[in-house]
Amino acid sequence: MGTSSRQDATDDDRWIEREAQRIEAELVRYRREVHRHAESAWTEFWTTSYIAKRLAEFEYNVLIGPDVCCDSARMGVPPDAMVEQHRRRALDQGGDADLLKVMRGGFTGAIGTRSQGRGPVIALRFDIDALELLESNEASHRPTREGFASLNDGVCHACGHDGHVAIGLGVARVLSHLPAGLPGTLRLIFQPAEEGVRGARAIVAAGHLSDVDYVIGCHLLSGWAVGEFVSGLGGYAATRKFDVRFLGEAGSRRRVAGRGKERTPRRGHGGPAPSRSAQTSRRFHASPRRADGSRNRPERDSRPSVSCCGGPRRNGCTLPVHVRTRRARCGRRRCDVRVRRQHHPDGAGRYRTE
Ligand SMILES: [Zn+2]
Repeated sequence: MGTSSRQDATDDDRWIEREAQRIEAELVRYRREVHRHAESAWTEFWTTSYIAKRLAEFEYNVLIGPDVCCDSARMGVPPDAMVEQHRRRALDQGGDADLLKVMRGGFTGAIGTRSQGRGPVIALRFDIDALELLESNEASHRPTREGFASLNDGVCHACGHDGHVAIGLGVARVLSHLPAGLPGTLRLIFQPAEEGVRGARAIVAAGHLSDVDYVIGCHLLSGWAVGEFVSGLGGYAATRKFDVRFLGEAGSRRRVAGRGKERTPRRGHGGPAPSRSAQTSRRFHASPRRADGSRNRPERDSRPSVSCCGGPRRNGCTLPVHVRTRRARCGRRRCDVRVRRQHHPDGAGRYRTE
């Protein structure tokens, strides 16, 4: 905050700043507890239970379960068995049994609302999911050294959403007892499944933004000094997804029984599906991340960064491709790696990169 804005600060602003400093240790505790219980998309059971309990303590109207996300608009929900296994894990780790019951089926996420008289409806959005990554167990890694590394093997808060939960709970706590009150409606949306861009649509489809006048989201970023705050309207990031399906043999070149020879793929077949999928994946990753091909922070991105992963399936492979850009119009552009549709006898179409 610059000098001039400090001079313009109201009594409320000064009170908020003092209050935020007063609860700093609590905010660190929130963040570390959430970090320790890292949960990936649609399995944020412990996290949601933790958030809902805090919001209730701060006297918000709390919504959890199927009313938070429209079921038909949820994307990329893991298989039922996996979701249930993670719900039970949250129970074992001390999640609230009654709250976890309502979240069956992966209906994670929580919304806290407070209304006071007439005024605008303001929504603040905080994403809560972790990434499916293995956390470092080396002593140089602070969460390991100080005992708050993820309890859940293979899941880790590597994108800062643990910090977002802490910020959200801090905002909830401070604004719950603002001396002058807050006219209007404050809606704090703790959104599940941000990774892979799977959860926001379901929140919107459930109608939680239909009466909102302003919505604000935030993301922690490295590369800025501690205490620096950067704001903007639009143009921050865009994303687009598509699947490339490879039809064909599910295995690698197979040896013909008894002869020890490799079977040659049929003419125009292009080789086994997993192999073609892997080749395509490599070519996508060869696409430069920045407009000028450098690793430097770009002034403008004109080319997408592409992440893709996928594995062999029966009768072929599916390669899910995730394109991220800084501008929406780039998201609508064709991916830099051209994908050509080829004729296939069963009419389903096969693809290969050029
Ligand atoms: Zn993130």
